[in-house]
Amino acid sequence: MFAQTLNELTFRLTLAPQGPLLVKAGDEFTPAGEVQDALRLLPEKQMAYFQGRKEREQERRDGLKKQAKDRRERERRDRQAARQRGQTQPIVEEPEAADMRFVLTQRRGQKEPYLPGSSLKGVLRSHAERLACSMTPAGDGACNLFGRPGGGDEPCWQCLEESDGPRREHVSATRAYRVLCPVCKLFGCPFLAGRIRISDAYLVEPAGRGPLSRRDSVGIDRRRGAAADGAKYDFEYWDGGAFQAQVTVRNFELWQLGLLAHLLHGLDKGEIPVGFGTHRGLGRVQGAVSGLQMAYFGSLALEQRSPPLPLLGLGQLSLKRPVLAAYGFWDGEPLPSPLARGVRLVMDGSVPWRQAWAVDEPERLWEAVGPLWNPRLVDELAQARRAAEEEEHG
Ligand SMILES: [Zn+2]
Repeated sequence: MFAQTLNELTFRLTLAPQGPLLVKAGDEFTPAGEVQDALRLLPEKQMAYFQGRKEREQERRDGLKKQAKDRRERERRDRQAARQRGQTQPIVEEPEAADMRFVLTQRRGQKEPYLPGSSLKGVLRSHAERLACSMTPAGDGACNLFGRPGGGDEPCWQCLEESDGPRREHVSATRAYRVLCPVCKLFGCPFLAGRIRISDAYLVEPAGRGPLSRRDSVGIDRRRGAAADGAKYDFEYWDGGAFQAQVTVRNFELWQLGLLAHLLHGLDKGEIPVGFGTHRGLGRVQGAVSGLQMAYFGSLALEQRSPPLPLLGLGQLSLKRPVLAAYGFWDGEPLPSPLARGVRLVMDGSVPWRQAWAVDEPERLWEAVGPLWNPRLVDELAQARRAAEEEEHG
């Protein structure tokens, strides 16, 4: 999309575990993130990728199981040999690594758990897809990332690929933007960088020594509904203090903030689990927003010097900059009321092209923009997409 930044929303997102939480090492790239990487491949390679993915995951699990089994066997033999040699000194054993380990990072001079931003983004994206699809009778409010080419539920950007072949650089940003579904418009796809960025989330307080707990679990055989043979494993989990990430939404449309308001509401209510084992009650977190700032750039930044703070998305800004209209931004009604209370100018004059406002009561912002994300809007966006797609096919 255009290089110039026109509006920007930033805030801290604090995620407090409400029980055991496990984001597995090796899963720094979530299925959604991994799928997005795969989607950069050519279509014929994509099919092979999706077929291979399942097999590779099984191989990886089998490998882990075998490693754990070999290790136990080796240690048993070592102990036996020590007894035979008549050693009475207990052998100092290296603590055995868990079969499933929490993803760690080096911080404050020690290893500590963290939540990769790509995982968080993947979780929010999936939730946004479900929300969007539940809002239209046909369930087509967002595209299906896993949809197969030609299967009737292909990703929204498939038509760009058909018309252009794999030469992505020839697809203009305006053309791409018009045919993308709302979720791809916010979270990105092979033809468009996402509007939202989520940093890795780090512990607010130091983790302390030996911060992770461990628990045994048993794999379930899906067909028999009973414990699978030899599927016993143990995993590490975190149930301590909160993690914090930085979220940035740049060059947004107002309805995108509306969708974000719904996602944050879900996090606040603890309805969006994170990480491994969510169907077994793991991964419950509660999310809270703080340090929220809204910034406008360019000549627009000079217009407003005191509250109320106007809420302007690209749709409203494109009325002032006709060149933006080619993207087909939403500029419908009703617009949210400007924020009159709980806002203050934090950067003024010193950087004339940027004006930032602190929003001390973020819930006022979410209340203002939340209603914009509604079934009528999702339907309008779907209609606009279909019209753009027809244009695309001539
Ligand atoms: Zn899409």
